[in-house]
Amino acid sequence: MKKLPLHVKIMIGLVAGILWAFLSSSLGWNQFTIDWIDPFGQIFIRMLKYIAVPLVLFSIISGISGLKDMSKLGRMGGKTLGFYLTTTVIAVGVGLLLVNIIKPGNLIDEEQRVRNRLKYENWVAQTEGVEILDGKHLLSDPQYSHLNQMEELSEAEKKMVEEKQAAASEKDSAGPLSFLVDMVPSNIVLSLSNDKLMLQVIFFGIFFGICMAALPDDKVSGVNAFVNGANEVFLKMVDYVMKAAPFFVFCLLAGVVAKMANTPAQVFEIFKGLASYSVTLVIGLLFLIFVFYPLVISSFVKSINYRKFFKKVSPAQFLAFSTSSSAATLPVTMEVVEDNLGVSKNVSSFVLPIGATVNMDGTSLYQAVAVVFMAQMHMVDLTVAQQLTIVLTATLASIGSAAVPSAGLVMMIVVLQSVGLNPAWIAIIFPVDRPLDMLRTVVNVTGDTVVSTLVAKSEGELKED
Ligand code: ASP
Repeated sequence: MKKLPLHVKIMIGLVAGILWAFLSSSLGWNQFTIDWIDPFGQIFIRMLKYIAVPLVLFSIISGISGLKDMSKLGRMGGKTLGFYLTTTVIAVGVGLLLVNIIKPGNLIDEEQRVRNRLKYENWVAQTEGVEILDGKHLLSDPQYSHLNQMEELSEAEKKMVEEKQAAASEKDSAGPLSFLVDMVPSNIVLSLSNDKLMLQVIFFGIFFGICMAALPDDKVSGVNAFVNGANEVFLKMVDYVMKAAPFFVFCLLAGVVAKMANTPAQVFEIFKGLASYSVTLVIGLLFLIFVFYPLVISSFVKSINYRKFFKKVSPAQFLAFSTSSSAATLPVTMEVVEDNLGVSKNVSSFVLPIGATVNMDGTSLYQAVAVVFMAQMHMVDLTVAQQLTIVLTATLASIGSAAVPSAGLVMMIVVLQSVGLNPAWIAIIFPVDRPLDMLRTVVNVTGDTVVSTLVAKSEGELKED
């Protein structure tokens, strides 16, 4: 057991956790799992999260202050954003292509779709400022009148939709430059204490690093030693936490599955209704993980072939899967990118923290697939122009999503609203969101590792073996 590589041990923990959850639910031990095993999973996420913020801060400062040539910073920034944007747009494109070819929404029972359509038209009639998107009016057609019944959302669904809507409207009411304003901290202590404000910490770190580099060495030698030392300490923390990761991942997965449903049969039941959607989305996400990224990396960096790539990045991928959070995975992403892929600290400390918040290929693909799926199951035909609006808003929404579980679901409200569809539709896909969130987080994190390697390669900062 001792000799097994870490990623294999983490995978064993992951599978064992799922098996345990199924076993415990069929034996009626779910409450035991939630009371006695799940808390260790929570502890794991907390540890990773508290390490992430100071690690980002210290590693950015030490990376930037160590740059000899500041024009390199601008160049690196440009490349980073360019690569991130390109991969995100490709991801949304893959999503739209798949959802238009497979048409998962059309696989749903015809009568149910007509009912959905009528509900949609009723919603449009009652909501100010929206119009029927495809100009058809089934409500006024007598042959469908017997299907027109207003179904209410259940209380629990209503509450969930309201909560997510409140979170989304905070983002939505903002002006066009608000993302720039949001990047600048007004109080760095507050930014450090809120994991949704990671970009502010990054901004502060970059500025602090630039100022350190601008001062003579003897003036900042104390700060320099402190920052580098603190950085090492946090990296050591990651090391220790990762040693126990297989156990923690077991607890985390057991807890997540146990909370999802009481029996394995219920889990399958939840999936059955949304199988066509889940399968389409999973195909898209797996395509990015197993075809797109390895292809990109092996064609630009000859020394990293297909198998090597996965061997090197898989600890971060498993962790992303178990935690559903790019932010919580960040410390480990940094470690694998530096130690296994050979990216220099200068590059990784700059590119990865930005990537964790800005680059979410999995989330943007998911938004594209989900919105079109929901439109299809409500018999709403979206034109190419409307689908392009989805590309744009899904890209922006994925940038605006926090790197925490279910953040993409909240931003979905913004995407639905932007094309004039009912935001309450998120209740439909909510039941299967968590497992899909786990997979899209793997994509988000893998995308970050790939882009940081490309930036490092183009800057001559990649140690190839
Ligand atoms: N959980 C995702 C992440 O942290 C974001 C999302 O799609 O909800 O990367």
